[in-house]
Amino acid sequence: MDIKLGDRLLMKKPHPCGNNVFIVLRTGADLRLKCAECGREIMIERIKAQKNIRKVMRDEDA
Ligand SMILES: [Zn+2]
Repeated sequence: MDIKLGDRLLMKKPHPCGNNVFIVLRTGADLRLKCAECGREIMIERIKAQKNIRKVMRDEDA
């Protein structure tokens, strides 16, 4: 799965705040994601994250 900086990820499992959209801040073996609702940042292994992604949202003209 192709994940790039600035992508918004719609996750299957929501953040504790109830939001399930996260913004990609850093990619690599681990992803740094920011909750689009409460702004908390999390680190997650890319492999784990990919299982949890429902949809990658990207501005195609960016
Ligand atoms: Zn949150």
